[in-house]
Amino acid sequence: MPEARYFKKAVEPLQVSVWKSERRPSGRRVAKCSGLRAQAGGCDMKLAENIYFYPEDPSCDGAVLNAGAVVIDGAQKLIIDPGSEKRLPFLVKRMTADGLDPATLDLALFTHSHPDHLGAGRALRDTFGVAPAMHRLETDFLTGTGFGFNRRSFAREDFTVLEEGEFRFGGHRFHLYLTPGHSPGGLTLHWPEAKLLVVGDVYFQGTFGATDLPGGSEPEMFRTLEKLEKLEDVELVLCGHGPAIAGREAIEENYRVLAREVAMKKAGTWPGYSDLF
Ligand SMILES: [Zn+2]
Ligand SMILES: [Zn+2]
Repeated sequence: MPEARYFKKAVEPLQVSVWKSERRPSGRRVAKCSGLRAQAGGCDMKLAENIYFYPEDPSCDGAVLNAGAVVIDGAQKLIIDPGSEKRLPFLVKRMTADGLDPATLDLALFTHSHPDHLGAGRALRDTFGVAPAMHRLETDFLTGTGFGFNRRSFAREDFTVLEEGEFRFGGHRFHLYLTPGHSPGGLTLHWPEAKLLVVGDVYFQGTFGATDLPGGSEPEMFRTLEKLEKLEDVELVLCGHGPAIAGREAIEENYRVLAREVAMKKAGTWPGYSDLF
């Protein structure tokens, strides 16, 4: 069908690794990766003044279940989604090569509680004293019904609780948006001054995040996408998986691709991810 070709065309040239859930014959859903391929750009990436991006890359990370980590430098240092526990020594090496001392990190913001994002959280806290922070709804989710991972790694009171709204940290002024759909307390960080948006697994280049994992919701995802699309002052989007989306034109084109996906899901004409990857 033409729509499927459209998506193939949009997705195929990209070096992406996107996690989706798959139903086993037993009925249980498991996370499945569409394919891990090396990212362009190498292991170490200083994207702009004060912004470092460490996209997941098995050849640099020593582990396959990971997310793109972001470090924002300032009077205090913020790390977002460091990835899995196994990856931490590799991430430390990558950061050190960029002149970032992990011991100087102050806060670890987790966009959500999935193990590919939060897994390193406990080791990061215990080894380097980095305080973990997450949205209240996500700490409730993690320590309640949860995703099944990391549940025993943290108690609710371990987290600095974040809410939607202005977030001043390290001399910078950020805005946090509650962006459920992939996970109930998903957080997106917007830094208007740097025109940066960190979306976690809300969306990637070419597709939006899975909505059928525990705590996910397709209607909430649609509302979240509408909310993020309206944001001005965004010229760089860092996603939990896959490449950065750089430039207003690329960001708008990506929203158009996502809108097609939303429309097809709403109309029941979505061809299925297996046809896309
Ligand atoms: Zn996730
Ligand atoms: Zn993820």
